[in-house]
Amino acid sequence: MAHRPTSDVVVVGGGVIGLGIAWRAANAGMIVTIVDEAPGRGASWAAAGMLAPVTEVHYGERPLLALNLAAAARWPSFAAEVEEASGHPVGYRPGGTLAVARDADDNAALEDLYQFQLRCGLEVERLHSRECRQLEPGLAPSIRGGVLAAGDHQVDNRALVEALLVACQRSGARLVGGRVAELSVEGDRVTGVVLAAGGGPPAARPAGSAPSRPAEGALPAGVVVLAAGCWSGGLGGLAADALPPVRPVKGQLLYLRGPADQPLCSRNVRGLEVYVVPRGDGRVVVGATVEEQGFDTTMTAGAVHDLLRAALELLPDAAELELAETVVGLRPGSPDNAPMLGPAGPDGLVVATGHYRNGILLTPVTADAIAELLATGQVPEAIAPFGPARFAAAPGRRVS
Ligand code: FAD
Repeated sequence: MAHRPTSDVVVVGGGVIGLGIAWRAANAGMIVTIVDEAPGRGASWAAAGMLAPVTEVHYGERPLLALNLAAAARWPSFAAEVEEASGHPVGYRPGGTLAVARDADDNAALEDLYQFQLRCGLEVERLHSRECRQLEPGLAPSIRGGVLAAGDHQVDNRALVEALLVACQRSGARLVGGRVAELSVEGDRVTGVVLAAGGGPPAARPAGSAPSRPAEGALPAGVVVLAAGCWSGGLGGLAADALPPVRPVKGQLLYLRGPADQPLCSRNVRGLEVYVVPRGDGRVVVGATVEEQGFDTTMTAGAVHDLLRAALELLPDAAELELAETVVGLRPGSPDNAPMLGPAGPDGLVVATGHYRNGILLTPVTADAIAELLATGQVPEAIAPFGPARFAAAPGRRVS
């Protein structure tokens, strides 16, 4: 019998998914190490923070809808727990989401979506133009109609990242600054990770989250949780087809800023080509492009133009706001747009990635389910349909 590993669990990747799992696992009494050279600065930093299972519903994604709804239901208590554990607010804001149509074509598309939402049993309300403008007086007079999803809320994903980092540290999880180069494999078992040499200090990280100095060499572990977002398919140590088939899906997004006491809108507003998410402090998120560009993270003039044009068509007063920041992130996409959650391939390896455009929403359900799996060895029912093995036999699958 080998000696006891230094950590019960090593989590590769400190985005919302890795941090959420690490926090829950440490609270359950496990010895947890998180490895990341820039924790919280991946897609989790770039996101808009919408918690929107209803307005994000897509044809052909019914199993994912059930998971998204379960996640949304957990958000109020999850937000309260993270805030209590960290002492940091996470900016959870109920308020609903109003999807609106600019013209007759938009309105027809919105009607199709509305009918689909009704067939899915979702809580939605069809509104006339006047009713939309009563809810959001800043909407353009030309708006043709809308659909209110009263249960689609938001969280400040950046505040969430910072709070989770503190909660992890307070729960005893150790944060190691560095990059995992490969998984350690003995026979048919993953036994830990090997860190890339010369990691150096993280390039950027939230305040108060200083990881320990980069360690050299190997970190043994009872179980390795692979939660490295869109980079999860690129580790060494295993054949590429034993790693999750995750790919980067580029998203460009803007932050505008205006006076906090004169908000542009009071709830999330969506058109067909853009969404506008008002924070409580005057910041307004405008997003986002969806691009298959590999690992490219260039912010383009065209994206800034298109996002602003689309936002101004819905909310003309956005033109008066400061353009405060441009952001590019890489969503971890999976072949069916649903996450990959659970044991994967060799013993000792658990995958938690592929959350694509709903990773912030899915954080509570992922963290709880993976922590339960780590504690019991049993795959919780909630995530059973999302096992990574569902792609194992896919011919010619892409691993990038
Ligand atoms: P990440 O946050 O990308 O974290 C992965 C981490 O792994 C990084 O910190 C990285 O440094 C680390 N890492 C990588 N390789 C290694 C390695 N070899 N060793 C150690 N660490 C490593 N979701 C929503 O729910 N609502 C939204 O409104 C929303 N809007 C979005 C808007 C945009 C523009 C984008 C890009 C995404 C959006 N998403 C949204 C999706 C959401 O951001 C992601 O699904 C989620 O953040 C994924 O979290 P993660 O922890 O898996 O990945």
